[in-house]
Amino acid sequence: MEPQGTRLDPWIDAYAQRTQGLTASQVRALFAVASRPEVVSLAGGMPYVSALPLDALADTVAQLVRDRGAQALQYGSGQGDVTLREQILDVMAPVGVRAHPDDIVVTAGSQMALDLVVRVFCDPGDVVLVEAPTYVTALGVFSSYQCQVVHVPMDGEGMRADALREAIAALRAQGRTPKLIYTIPSFHNPAGVTQGSQRRAEVLEVARSTGILLLEDDPYGLLGFDGEVPRAIRADEADGVVYLGTFSKTIAAGLRIGWAVAPHGVREKLVLANETATLCPSNFAQLTISSYLATQPWFEQVKVFREVYRERRDALLESLESLMPPGTTWTVPAGGFYSWVTLPAGLDATAMLPRAVAALVAYVPGTGFYAPGAGGEHELRLSYCYPEPDRIREGVRRLAGVIETEVELAATFGSPTSAPVRSGPTAPTPDLA
Ligand code: PMP
Repeated sequence: MEPQGTRLDPWIDAYAQRTQGLTASQVRALFAVASRPEVVSLAGGMPYVSALPLDALADTVAQLVRDRGAQALQYGSGQGDVTLREQILDVMAPVGVRAHPDDIVVTAGSQMALDLVVRVFCDPGDVVLVEAPTYVTALGVFSSYQCQVVHVPMDGEGMRADALREAIAALRAQGRTPKLIYTIPSFHNPAGVTQGSQRRAEVLEVARSTGILLLEDDPYGLLGFDGEVPRAIRADEADGVVYLGTFSKTIAAGLRIGWAVAPHGVREKLVLANETATLCPSNFAQLTISSYLATQPWFEQVKVFREVYRERRDALLESLESLMPPGTTWTVPAGGFYSWVTLPAGLDATAMLPRAVAALVAYVPGTGFYAPGAGGEHELRLSYCYPEPDRIREGVRRLAGVIETEVELAATFGSPTSAPVRSGPTAPTPDLA
């Protein structure tokens, strides 16, 4: 038995089993170093909020407090402000989602909606089907409800419908039926790919024919660089899909307002779960967004964001193209924040990270986007949403140098086996957003 006094945390034996996946990794410690200004961070998924009309927003907030302060600073409804829910219908019109304001539940970011859906549907041991790779903090949610995550392979168009069908059949053969199919069809985090309309129809058909609820996560749908907005899967199926949206990428992540669109019965449960979690989403943040939508040209601002991110995506892709050593491949995102990189054979993205940080560039190693042991060793995520284009170019130059050295080392000494850095689904950090 370990003597009590040497323990860092005296409560270590008291935690619920569902916290077992909530462990801070060494990768997280490295990100503390990576947040120094001299490091180019291609790790974080932070939206470039400086592109917002901050003066106009300040006026909106001042006027809100002056004119409707008593409402904005009060508790609100567990389902969310009704005017905002009506406005959300307009925000979803470009992705083709038609609903009634009653079908919407406003939450503290779409992260909270994700948590509530899993809370409402999943018992410990329930299977959830997800893309390979998938959003790291979704994995955190699945882990905290003790779900079993089964990855479905992707191709250049996202989740493969044939592989999804096979995975469900294989599970059913073992007497198990998955509870949810979790997918990010547009401008995927982290893979940077998008399901075409045919693929969406196929994925939906698998969900329909197997009777499994589809959880469609769509934070980036309006951020396509050619201006085309992919049609949401929810636009073609209301009863079998829960759709998640957010203002984090189109207005401000710091306001923490997202939403779920859900079939009637599910929506009732989500509202009750929302109330037990937070009583109500922040009224102040909701009314701020509501006033912004009512008084500002919000869609013009979305176009500004698209331009900002398109320029950064181009800077990333051009420098990857001209600088990366042979054997390195990457996805070409048509929107969103991320490109997914596969390293030359024999290289390990987790082992390489300390050397990259020493060379003043940071990325997120691929293993964090898979259930533990399920893959990602040779992969990594680069995000281009936050640094200026010149910094992105400099970051890629540094990273290419690190990869080149790794390739030479691997050729001379075999695969590098330096200091293992544990990764995996971890407690979320902004770097893993
Ligand atoms: N889903 C995905 C795929 C994301 O990338 C993010 C944020 N990075 C979220 C959900 C959560 O976003 P928020 O809670 O800010 O709405």
